[in-house]
Amino acid sequence: CSGSFVDKNVYDWSSEEEETDGRARPVQVLVVKDDHTFELDEAALCKILLAEEVRDREVVAISVAGAFRKGKSFLMDFMLRYMYSQASDTWLGDPNEPLTGFSWRGGSERETTGIQIWSEVFLVDKPDGSKVAVLLMDTQGTFDSQSTLRDSATVFALSTMISSMQVYNISQNVQEDDLQHLQLFTEYGRLAMEETFLKPFQSMIFLVRDWSFPYEFPYGQEGGMKFLEKRLKISENQHEELQNVRKHIHSCFTNISCFLMPHPGLKVATNPHFDGRLKEIDQEFINNLQVLVLWLLRPKNLDVKEINGSKITCRGLLEYFKAYIKIYQG
Ligand code: GDP
Ligand code: MG
Repeated sequence: CSGSFVDKNVYDWSSEEEETDGRARPVQVLVVKDDHTFELDEAALCKILLAEEVRDREVVAISVAGAFRKGKSFLMDFMLRYMYSQASDTWLGDPNEPLTGFSWRGGSERETTGIQIWSEVFLVDKPDGSKVAVLLMDTQGTFDSQSTLRDSATVFALSTMISSMQVYNISQNVQEDDLQHLQLFTEYGRLAMEETFLKPFQSMIFLVRDWSFPYEFPYGQEGGMKFLEKRLKISENQHEELQNVRKHIHSCFTNISCFLMPHPGLKVATNPHFDGRLKEIDQEFINNLQVLVLWLLRPKNLDVKEINGSKITCRGLLEYFKAYIKIYQG
């Protein structure tokens, strides 16, 4: 990174041809290309993380990861709404306002595998008096063939390594292959990191979308925890492979939790003209969305990124990002 970026304001994107109105936007910082090589947009990353107001602040990095078309970007846009409303009680906003931010859409065509970062890093005052920088990351994987599984593993590993909270977005249930994927992804990450006696990653949240057994385990975090405890339980009579997946997951993360989300309703899932307005989303979903977003983002719950037990600033995160990507580029 050259010094030319560092004194610029985070909102100032005017030097970019495609962006003349200076508004915040998603920036693709990591792309997995068709030949399975990775490209890091270092200049864009520098611009975001070395902006004067944020570079020396401790960073909270929140990532959402998982397969395509499972509502990740849709959720991210609500997280943005919360961040922009400064945690106001009315953060959900006007029932008729279309949802904007990270691009989300219906249909089934592929999108780029990689990592997008919101160009605006938010400064938040925590109740203990500290001020932290909050970075939001949206990631995509494909998970559909052997070669794309490897790409997805790298994206997932990288986003887990640089985030303080990884939200693993999965559909309907926590299946055995979701756990196997997680094992593969975190193994990729762990191999790239220095050996330490500490657990390599911070918080992992299993976010189950379209949960349809609320009578067995209720929506939300408590139901999620009970459900996950059952799914991650290790027992003697389990096949060794199942035991190993579970042991591995437990050994990787400092905190593991789970949240069960209801289905958002048919308009969200199937109407091609749906533009994200609240009015057309099931109330049960909205209620749980409010609980979820508050749980993830309320200032008290924002955990600073730590690597080997030390708190990391935006500037530090940039260095780690560059170092980690080098490992995968071989
Ligand atoms: P992403 O590829 O994971 O980022 O998914 P998107 O956020 O782009 O959403 C893909 C489609 O799923 C859109 O048509 C959304 O309206 C829809 N969608 C969003 N959230 C949910 C959900 O919780 N359940 C279902 N079934 N669909 C959702
Ligand atoms: Mg998306």
